[in-house]
Amino acid sequence: MRKKQFKAESKKLLDMMINSIYTHKEIFLRELISNASDALDKQYYNSLGEDTGMSRNEYVIRIEPDKEVRTLKIIDNGCGMTGEELEVNLGTIAKSGSLDFKNENGEDKTDVEIIGQFGVGFYSAFMVSDRVVVESRANGSDQAYRWSSNGAEGYYIEKSDYPENHGTVITLYLKQDTDDEKYGEFLEEYELESLVKKYSDYIRYPIMMKCENRVPKEKAEGEEDKPTEWETVIEDRQLNSMVPIWRKNKNEITEEEYNNFYSEKFYDFEAPVKVIHSKNEGVPAYDSLIYIPSHVPFNYFSKDYEKGLALYSNGVMITDKCGELLPDYFNFAKGLVDSPDLSLNISRELLQHDRQLKVIAKNIEKKIKSELEKLLKDDREKYEKFFEAFGVQLKYGIYGTYGMAKENLQNLLIFKSTNEGKYVTLKEYEERMPDSQKGIYYACGETTAKIEMLPQTEAVKSAGMEVLMLTNDIDEFTLKMMRDYDGKQFINVCTDSLDLGTEEDKQALEQKNTDEKDLLDFIKETLGDKIVAAKFSNRLGSHPVCLTSGSEITTEMERVLNAQPIAEKIKAQLTLEINSDHAIAAKLSELYESDKDKVGKYAKLLYNSACLISGLPVDDPSAMSDLICELMV
Ligand code: ADP
Repeated sequence: MRKKQFKAESKKLLDMMINSIYTHKEIFLRELISNASDALDKQYYNSLGEDTGMSRNEYVIRIEPDKEVRTLKIIDNGCGMTGEELEVNLGTIAKSGSLDFKNENGEDKTDVEIIGQFGVGFYSAFMVSDRVVVESRANGSDQAYRWSSNGAEGYYIEKSDYPENHGTVITLYLKQDTDDEKYGEFLEEYELESLVKKYSDYIRYPIMMKCENRVPKEKAEGEEDKPTEWETVIEDRQLNSMVPIWRKNKNEITEEEYNNFYSEKFYDFEAPVKVIHSKNEGVPAYDSLIYIPSHVPFNYFSKDYEKGLALYSNGVMITDKCGELLPDYFNFAKGLVDSPDLSLNISRELLQHDRQLKVIAKNIEKKIKSELEKLLKDDREKYEKFFEAFGVQLKYGIYGTYGMAKENLQNLLIFKSTNEGKYVTLKEYEERMPDSQKGIYYACGETTAKIEMLPQTEAVKSAGMEVLMLTNDIDEFTLKMMRDYDGKQFINVCTDSLDLGTEEDKQALEQKNTDEKDLLDFIKETLGDKIVAAKFSNRLGSHPVCLTSGSEITTEMERVLNAQPIAEKIKAQLTLEINSDHAIAAKLSELYESDKDKVGKYAKLLYNSACLISGLPVDDPSAMSDLICELMV
């Protein structure tokens, strides 16, 4: 018999398991029980409609410790594996590439974290065993196979007579105890029972173990008055309660139980920000248990991320990811739906068109929305945590549906505002607006600090109004798609539609722009197609210049769109605004009479500084620096 080598990645994982980098070695049992339960699901599901002679309550998982030979068996009568499946499933890691994942910052995650994300799977058996033997017979196969391995060197696969029926027997040869680790505990009844309770209580098949039980000895006739004697008998005991958590009443479930179920099922060890458990008595009737995670899963922005809720029919899983149950903008939600009204044998394809499923999906969307609104109202801190993780998805929701999801989502949006730098909702902003305010002001930039430094932000602030500070690429596109909130237009403070002054101010400014037309035209000519016009402005406070754009394409949109791989670059229509009250205005007028050439140089410098303030690149930094030095000496 030829020894086979593990595939490279499996070997790496195996090495880690053997060297026990994982602190909770006990989770091996949870992993093997879950695999057994999956195999039972598969068997049950595949044989629906067939006469297998087996009823659902005959599907069981057995745990058999044997202290004498120091082995622990985990046995199931599920679908089993063929020789080939043993090879593929246990010689390689199915989710190949999983070890290369990087976190969002591009740093390598530690191996432990990565394993944590996936659940550790079958290989965790090697954390507690020197040798693992898997004997399995696939459903309907007349040949069983044995897979055996002593660890990282490789494994053998051979024919076997055992098991006689479909199913799998996994035998762990437990490691010897050391000073630190008492592997022998995994043979103790109480330990195994408490591990099953802790991790696998909701497995929907009975997990059975032969246990010692002290029972009163039966008394012979006439001995009724004698004191009771006790004896030890071996009895089959069911270790798990099997009642799925979502079938229980809310008031019977503790927060810890909800969270345990979440981390077990979705491999997320950080508690969710929100648990939404509901029973729907309507038609179709269903129970749902939905979690809103508190952080972004590591693969959330990759194409591997699949949205969806698990779908059960009366406690039996139909699919573990039913995408149709969630709109894209709530794709972060995790959880499940269990409905007795769905028929079990509908296939995945048919599912997509199932009318009842659509009704459930609509209800779930409403429910998630209302629960998030409640969270926003009742627990701002938690909501902000949620929004920092998934707010982008809500914004894409509005943008990606061309505004169709606006009504649904607009009250879930929050933005940082110049009002103490805190997050505000659009409603809160609106309520604080003075009557005279024309619309909802916002400004875009890389950071809120940079936005606060914009001359235009300062101008709006000093006029006693609030500015929303948008730092995410998608933000402005979302607001554009929304057009308005409750009838109030969104206005980018860096556009020429910002109109703050009094009528008098406006007229004085118009006069100045007319009087200085020649100078302004000269500046425009010097800068060519970089700007569409130059003009004097009175909304810059103490600052000398800024760039404003038309409201169709703003500088922010230009920046974001041009960062995309598109052939034709987009150009915002820019106006160079010069502060009419600043000394530079007078200087320009003076130079225009005496030294036109210098006005040209000043114009270029002013334009470049305005670009820097707006976060736009300077076309030729070295020419700019030459020019500065030329004017300095
Ligand atoms: P995962 O369960 O995450 O897919 P595992 O390493 O735990 O990864 O298991 C690999 C595969 O081996 C499973 O996907 C399944 O196909 C198969 N397998 C494991 N245990 C059993 C079992 N008891 N019965 C049938 N198939 C099993």
